[in-house]
Amino acid sequence: MSAGCQREGEILVAAGRGPWSEETRQHLLECEECAAAAAVASWMSDAARNDVRQHKLPDPAVVWLKAQLLRQQSVAQRAGLPLNIVQIAAYLTVAGGWAALLTWKWRVLQLWVLSLSPRHVILDVSAGDAGSLSLSLPLLFTVVVLASLTVMVALHTIVAEE
Ligand SMILES: [Zn+2]
Repeated sequence: MSAGCQREGEILVAAGRGPWSEETRQHLLECEECAAAAAVASWMSDAARNDVRQHKLPDPAVVWLKAQLLRQQSVAQRAGLPLNIVQIAAYLTVAGGWAALLTWKWRVLQLWVLSLSPRHVILDVSAGDAGSLSLSLPLLFTVVVLASLTVMVALHTIVAEE
């Protein structure tokens, strides 16, 4: 690759702003490189002046604001990740607790739920034996704890989604 004509800069200045001296005109006739440079000089300076892009770049302030919003969003997502893991663990614990309780104490719970029907309540009260089908204290405690946990997890889910 050749280094180019040493007078090319001078020719480009003349092509852009003028004036053409007799010496530069004469050089233009003798030098192909400078003739080519002078021929495209006006087109190049027009292209440099006019923004020919179809889609103009957005305002830098808008780009900066979007970047800030995206950064805050990703920080919030990262901060919320451990909470989601705790939430999933709570769901699994509550579901597992209910599954275990219903599996192991199904018959007792079924009898207890049936004893809550109006017919049984009336019969038990009239027979003076209201406590015959009541749950044992540990089982009642387990049911109350699981029900409380279920309500807490549900409320937390509702609050977290808002
Ligand atoms: Zn030249």
